Amino acid sequence: MSELKENKKRILTGDRPTGKLHIGHYFGSLQNRVKLQDEYETYILVADVQALTDNFNNPEKVRENILQTTMDNLAAGLDPEKCIFVVQSMIPEIAELTVFYSNLVTVSRLQRNPTIKTEIAQKKELFGNSGESVTYGFLGYPVSQAADITAFNADLVPVGEDQLPLIEQTKEIVRKFNSLYGDTIKEPNYLLSEYKRIKGLDGNSKMGKSLGNAIYLADDEDTIREKVRGAITDTTKIRKDDPANPDICMVGYYHKMFSKENLNTICSECREGKRGCVSCKKELADNIIEKLKPIKERRKYYEERPELVQEILKSGTERARKITKENIEKVKASMKINYLEN
Ligand code: ATP
Ligand code: MG
Repeated sequence: MSELKENKKRILTGDRPTGKLHIGHYFGSLQNRVKLQDEYETYILVADVQALTDNFNNPEKVRENILQTTMDNLAAGLDPEKCIFVVQSMIPEIAELTVFYSNLVTVSRLQRNPTIKTEIAQKKELFGNSGESVTYGFLGYPVSQAADITAFNADLVPVGEDQLPLIEQTKEIVRKFNSLYGDTIKEPNYLLSEYKRIKGLDGNSKMGKSLGNAIYLADDEDTIREKVRGAITDTTKIRKDDPANPDICMVGYYHKMFSKENLNTICSECREGKRGCVSCKKELADNIIEKLKPIKERRKYYEERPELVQEILKSGTERARKITKENIEKVKASMKINYLEN
């Protein structure tokens, strides 16, 4: 791996290993990571501790997805020579920081965090569990995310829109820490992509891997075609030549991402009743398949070499610890809890 340039600004971002990554991730975050990997020293965190907050009863799922999540990032075009892949649970400094930060956040502030509120509501809808089953760990994951970002002293965090309240919470924690113990930790900024929140096939405001409404980067052609056939369309359109509104149709919505050059024709034909849903869906599926082709080719390369992916994680995590160890020393010194050092 090439040497890191000291003067480069840092990116910290990542994914929960709760499933394979999908086109929402690609447009919402992965594309930006790929674009910025030359300009920034980039750390990609495989956030297994965060995944365990709502999958603690299924650690196998998290385990299986460590390699899958990493492969999806590599398949999207992240270069393992440039980016540092890190397993969250193998960085004890993140856990230490989480403990220190947890004193700087009130329980009611966490309960009011919009991301947490939405995710709890979604869980209730999906699994019918009551608010009482929300664990301390899940409620506290924004604190742990603040620790992730600041353990690396990151300047920039490329994320989807659902993450903004978490970045805001990180900034609050950093300000509080610095005002109490002196200027120590860098306040990070977020970076949104042009597509900040990609909707699900079912029309849900977010395509999410825990929501069952996604087209995955690793889906095969038949699966993509089948999923697109099942996408929600304008329900007022009954016959092939009925006019319809592409703005309330999930097929029209994805055409905006995958069929940019033909978008005006697609939308006007749809509005004028000159476009049947079957052929419109076929065109979309064709374009998605075409766009994902190079990603799938790269994925195949890594799928055939799991030991290489494992090595990328192992060496990246070791390398990352050099930074996190330095940072925790600074934090402890500022808090004056480095008791036994001179
Ligand atoms: P989970 O449902 O398990 O939380 P997820 O699909 O939300 O999975 P994460 O691993 O939590 O995925 O998120 C990884 C990154 O991808 C985050 O920056 C998140 O904002 C972004 N992201 C996830 N889904 C979307 C989406 N539909 N549109 C845009 N960005 C997204
Ligand atoms: Mg998420």
